[in-house]
Amino acid sequence: MACPRDIKAERRLTGIPVSPGVAMGPMRLVCGGDTSPDIYPITEDELEGEWGRFEAALALTREQIENLKKRVTEMTGAKEAEIFDAHLLFLLDKSVMESIRSELRVRRQNVEAVAYAVIQTYIEAMRRVDDPYLRARTSDFEDVLHRLLENLHHSSASVEAFAPASGGAGDSGSAGIVGARDLTPSDTAALDTESVLGFATELGSTNSHTAILARSMGIPAVVGVPRLLLDTCERQYAVLDGYKGVLILNPEPETKEYYERLRAEKNQFYKALEAMHGLPTETKDGRRMRLAANVEFAHEYANVVSSGAEGVGLYRTEFFLLGDRGFPDEDEQADHYAALARACAPHEVVFRTFDAGGDKLPVEQPDAPEDNPFLGWRGIRVSLSRPELFKIQLRAILRASSVGKCSIMYPMISGITEVRLARELLEECKAELRREGRDFDEHIRTGIMIEVPGAAAIADVLADEVDFFSIGTNDLTQYTIAVDRVNFRVAHMFRSSHPGVIRLINKTIADASAKNIPTAICGEMAGDIAMLPLLVGMGASELSVGVHHVPIIRYAVRNLNYWECRDMVREALQAKDSSTIKALSKGLAMRSYPDLFD
Ligand code: PEP
Ligand code: MG
Repeated sequence: MACPRDIKAERRLTGIPVSPGVAMGPMRLVCGGDTSPDIYPITEDELEGEWGRFEAALALTREQIENLKKRVTEMTGAKEAEIFDAHLLFLLDKSVMESIRSELRVRRQNVEAVAYAVIQTYIEAMRRVDDPYLRARTSDFEDVLHRLLENLHHSSASVEAFAPASGGAGDSGSAGIVGARDLTPSDTAALDTESVLGFATELGSTNSHTAILARSMGIPAVVGVPRLLLDTCERQYAVLDGYKGVLILNPEPETKEYYERLRAEKNQFYKALEAMHGLPTETKDGRRMRLAANVEFAHEYANVVSSGAEGVGLYRTEFFLLGDRGFPDEDEQADHYAALARACAPHEVVFRTFDAGGDKLPVEQPDAPEDNPFLGWRGIRVSLSRPELFKIQLRAILRASSVGKCSIMYPMISGITEVRLARELLEECKAELRREGRDFDEHIRTGIMIEVPGAAAIADVLADEVDFFSIGTNDLTQYTIAVDRVNFRVAHMFRSSHPGVIRLINKTIADASAKNIPTAICGEMAGDIAMLPLLVGMGASELSVGVHHVPIIRYAVRNLNYWECRDMVREALQAKDSSTIKALSKGLAMRSYPDLFD
């Protein structure tokens, strides 16, 4: 096999486009996700030394496994210890070791990176075999891989090299396109937007928080690129097309020219849309909608104002927990929330209380990882089981409401009891603040996220309890059609246009409107220009989208006709599959604002 470094011809790797834009520059391969090692180039002279390091780590790993086998045999018997035979067999497998050796020569990267990439391809192949017994052995291989990497003294700091605090590009040499097996939401949040021109990963999906963060940080990104780490080299020049989901290695001069032109045209078009920031978000036939921004970080406040967004429709406060400074106290939270409320005045900021858990950072380190974190200790469940922490946040938001318009929104609501318990705690906080003589908005609005199908099914009941709904289409889709939003294997099945999802959204909006409360849409669907006619036609009163999408969505809404959207929705609600629904909505979108689809 030829060395990826020596292939000079243009090569295209395809994945899933998750954040629009074009990035051009050298590839910077880094560690990401939970286990993958650092990647760095080595010279021809270092090859033998690297192989020696690998052989030593291999011998140590074998010895450790032999010892483990012995101990388990003594404690529980030979049968139970048989599992280690599979580990040893794998370590003795000549074809695996030869692949690592030849890839090392070909790729000229540190041996842990090469071993990781090669063993991952075996693991992937194992996952696909029909025999359930062999498939179950995948975890044995993963186990061996971890042990081997540990013995190679892998460090996991390289994503941090791209964090602003560590000097970003200074540490890493220069700006570039980050390539990784996976990036966690925390990895992504830590990326320095100055030095990271874009990123590509082997894993990932459109609605993961990693993808959402990339969009809100304005970093072009492509995920789900198979063999990315095997097929690219450190510092190899590449173009990342975040519109189509392509990573082009060694681009031909014409390709570069094409992308330079595309980038310039898109920037110009975007600037023209931004210039319309003073215009109302209103359909051609006069239906007014509130268009707000989704915010994760403090540095986005300035963009919220300049984008012309009418405040913040979803502040994902859990990202305030990032870093290792511990749980922020009430004063720290109150100052932070007040700064945002002040910056957005006179518009409202919707503070969603911590939605920790799932694929996001936990509010506290669990004893053991949860088997199904998205069905586990997440969102309001965490807050209600830690009332002392929850009250700190509620008091902080209430205090911020004295300087700007604020409202409170609870995530992951699945039933009425959670709403009532949250309200009791909020009332306690209000009473305490009154006693302490502190100012707050006595009429602060409270709302809930509708993102669990059970909540959508009883939206008529829940509408009596709150002032507004906000539909989280990311989770509502995930839970309604049972498709994990971060699992790249089922990423193609994640369809918010599924008839089941559309009917739940329609029902929620209708139930809310019958009780005279507004419904916002704050999931990624609200920023999808192809799906916008559906949301407008179903009667959503507000849209909240990533800050970079605000000018685009405003322009799109201004080119729609509400009654046309309503007629299309009537037809869509009769449709039997997601493709028909998507085609109906996209068709109307393309007729209404064709320039956004160029
Ligand atoms: C959603 O689920 O659609 C949502 C907006 O919340 P998050 O993406 O933070 O889970
Ligand atoms: Mg959600």
